[in-house]
Amino acid sequence: MSVPEPSIFKLIFEQSVTPSIILKANAPDFTVIAQNREHQLSMHGKESETTGKSAFQVFVPNADDEELQASYAQLVAAFNQAIEEKLIVRLPAIKSLIKAPGEVHTHSVWRQMEIVPVKGKSGGIDFLICTSNDISQQVWLEAAHENGLLNEAHLTEKLAASNEELSATNEELSASNEELRQSRESLAESNQELENRVEQRTHALSESESRFRSMVEQSPVPMLVTMGEAMVFEIINQPMLDLIGKDSSVIGKPWHEAMPELEGQDIITQLLDTYDSGVSWEGNEVPVMIAKNGGLELGFYNISYKPLTDKGESIGMLQSAIDVTDLVKSRLLVEELNREQQTANEELAAINEELHTTNDELTLIQEKLENMVVDLAESEQQLQQIISLLPAAVVVIRGENLIVESVNDSNLAYWGKTREEVAGKPLLEILPELASQPFPGQLKHVMETGEPIDMKDSPVLLINPDGTHRESFVDYTYQPLTDSMGRHTGVLVMSFENTERVMSRKLLEQFSEEMQSMNEELTASNEELAAVNEELYAAQQSVEESRAALRLAIDAAEFGTWFINPVTREFITDARLKELFGYYPDESLSIEQALAQITDDYREIVSNALENAIYNNGDYDIVYPVTGLHDQQLRWLRAVGNLTADPSGSFSAFTGVVMDITEQKADEFRKNSFIAMVSHELKTPLTSLNGYLQLLHLRAKKAEDAFITNALDQSVKQVKRMTNMINGFLNVSRLESGKIHIEMQRFDMADLIQEMAEETRTLYSGKTFIFHPVESTIVNADHDKIGQVINNFISNAVKYSDPGTTIQVACVQENGFTRVSVSDEGMGIEKTELPKLFERYYRVNNTNNVSGFGIGLYLCAEIIQRHQGKIWAESEPGKGSTFYFWLPLAR
Ligand code: ADP
Repeated sequence: MSVPEPSIFKLIFEQSVTPSIILKANAPDFTVIAQNREHQLSMHGKESETTGKSAFQVFVPNADDEELQASYAQLVAAFNQAIEEKLIVRLPAIKSLIKAPGEVHTHSVWRQMEIVPVKGKSGGIDFLICTSNDISQQVWLEAAHENGLLNEAHLTEKLAASNEELSATNEELSASNEELRQSRESLAESNQELENRVEQRTHALSESESRFRSMVEQSPVPMLVTMGEAMVFEIINQPMLDLIGKDSSVIGKPWHEAMPELEGQDIITQLLDTYDSGVSWEGNEVPVMIAKNGGLELGFYNISYKPLTDKGESIGMLQSAIDVTDLVKSRLLVEELNREQQTANEELAAINEELHTTNDELTLIQEKLENMVVDLAESEQQLQQIISLLPAAVVVIRGENLIVESVNDSNLAYWGKTREEVAGKPLLEILPELASQPFPGQLKHVMETGEPIDMKDSPVLLINPDGTHRESFVDYTYQPLTDSMGRHTGVLVMSFENTERVMSRKLLEQFSEEMQSMNEELTASNEELAAVNEELYAAQQSVEESRAALRLAIDAAEFGTWFINPVTREFITDARLKELFGYYPDESLSIEQALAQITDDYREIVSNALENAIYNNGDYDIVYPVTGLHDQQLRWLRAVGNLTADPSGSFSAFTGVVMDITEQKADEFRKNSFIAMVSHELKTPLTSLNGYLQLLHLRAKKAEDAFITNALDQSVKQVKRMTNMINGFLNVSRLESGKIHIEMQRFDMADLIQEMAEETRTLYSGKTFIFHPVESTIVNADHDKIGQVINNFISNAVKYSDPGTTIQVACVQENGFTRVSVSDEGMGIEKTELPKLFERYYRVNNTNNVSGFGIGLYLCAEIIQRHQGKIWAESEPGKGSTFYFWLPLAR
């Protein structure tokens, strides 16, 4: 090991990074002999101000502070200990006050002190080398790091302990103080002399290599002295070895052998630069990678490089380093945490703002939603109202189980259920009979596919509460109901029942089929009739002949005849009529002139009857006296007239005859024969026609020609109908002219009904007739006319009901009356029509396809009224009708 020149040690002392001061071991003053630059800087003082002063003036200038007092006591104790024990004494952190140049106030710093006793030639301690480091930053950081309190508690404890020690020492001190004070006087004398000697000693000290070496080695601060540009490790203390994780084998090695891991790190560049420039360098918290504990460790260090110079040239380097890794790391950690916290805070603030905005938006949306809910509730209510008002049956079905969600009254009425029976229930629980019908399947199909269904005239079979079946027909639509997700969750069912329409259409179809076949039959019989027509023509000839005969009869009876045109009131008369009114045959005669000849008391009666007959179809059969115009002869005349339509039906004329009844009997006879002849003349050709037909019928039967036999059967029926019609018209005209005559006689209703039964069976085929048994019931009535009424009832029942149906005839006694009824299973009649049936020429509209004139029931009513009876009908459309009359029983 090369020993550095003594000048080097002086340099080391002066340039050391560790503040150092040399004191005389002259207790109690401990006079300052020398201090290096670092110490000077750390005290913020000048050498001139320090050298020659007591150490306590330097370290603890103000002893008022309690901590300072404690520091003072510690220092004294430490100095004495070092002198007595001749050993290095290390002090805990002590506090001292310093005042920076130019500053008014002092501030406190914490120092770590080490006191090295230096032996004199006598073997006693002559000097003390005090090194002190400003560890204020460390103390404060630690204090802050350990949350202050812990440290304070610790310090307090320590203080308490050292206080005790101090009090002990104090006692010792006060004892030795006395001694010291005594020797002080003698010392003061030799002071000057000693000072001179000290100077010499200092010089000697600076030359002492071992002392400086030990100063470095014993420094508590990690220190290293390297020599030359290769930075050969010359002196290294234990703290530095610990710091770089090496042992003493590094001594004598250049840096790249001793610490090869530094290769390439900034710290080496900095070291070489400092060496070259000769300018000191300090760096705080410098990151350095050091190989220790078997790996590379990153640490942070406060580093100081001080070049050791000789005549201005760098010859070595004094290096010191303090490990601040934990501090930096914990601070970095705190910073990192703070940063994270900051970012997290910022993010939270941003999120918070977003949440505020979202919240506002949500509040708006919520308000809108609330309004929508109110609107929805309103429209839901309106919808329910509309649904309930709809004439259609409406029901809403939901889900796979076909739950009835809502339903209107029309639908409930159609199902025959109450709301309680259906609400919220599955459709098939309400109407199990639908399970075997297509509807459940169709409802599910609509929900699966979203395709609506629209059906017309679909048959639906429902079961009534009493177990009977009800067949109905409906038009219906199934509309899918969609939720907000677009799923089809239900079906809106709307239906209209049209059973009646469908049924009547079917009935109509059935009717038109029957009509078709009837038409065909009629075509066939028409052909037959064409053949018969010729016979009829012959009959017409006879009618013409009988007209001529009638004329003759009129002439023979000396009737006057007249004709009045109701529109023009033209009055045409024959000569006989003029004669009866006392006019000459060539004279003209008007209605007014004729009326003038009627005696005063009869004129108005006749005039009224005439007007009534012409314009109201009234009866005209009147007897009145006339005074002849020229011959002034009084004659009793009877005038009979009626309104006749011409073949077109558009023009009618009022015609009649006037006869002289002074010869009453002869006239009566003539009248009867006239009526008998007219009916005879009309009936004769029909009778002969009937005869011919019977004959033909026999022949056809013999020839076994079934077709002709049948055709002739039909012809006979038609002739019978024609006869009845002629009778009907005759009866009407008789009725109008007041000539209908009721011929009362006693007879048994049972017999009449029996006759009717026989006649009916021969007349109508293709119908079932039930004639209920009748007990003997005697009435006083016109036998034929009552028969005519029953006949009319039966022929109507046949006309207005379908073939194959049944007609029932009954006659019973009831409250002094006999009641006859004829019931059918035909088309029936609306209630409102029933009273009108008995009016003249009245026909119900829907009987268009059945022939008739609407006079049958009119005549029936007239006949029954003239018997003081009652006539009426009961009916149910589509089911059938019953016609009744009552007759009083015979007394
Ligand atoms: P018509 O010659 O038209 O049958 P009626 O006076 O006998 O004249 O009957 C009057 C009307 O009463 C008929 O046109 C028919 O509309 C109705 N009518 C009568 N009888 C029946 C019945 N049994 N069933 C249905 N309607 C009937």
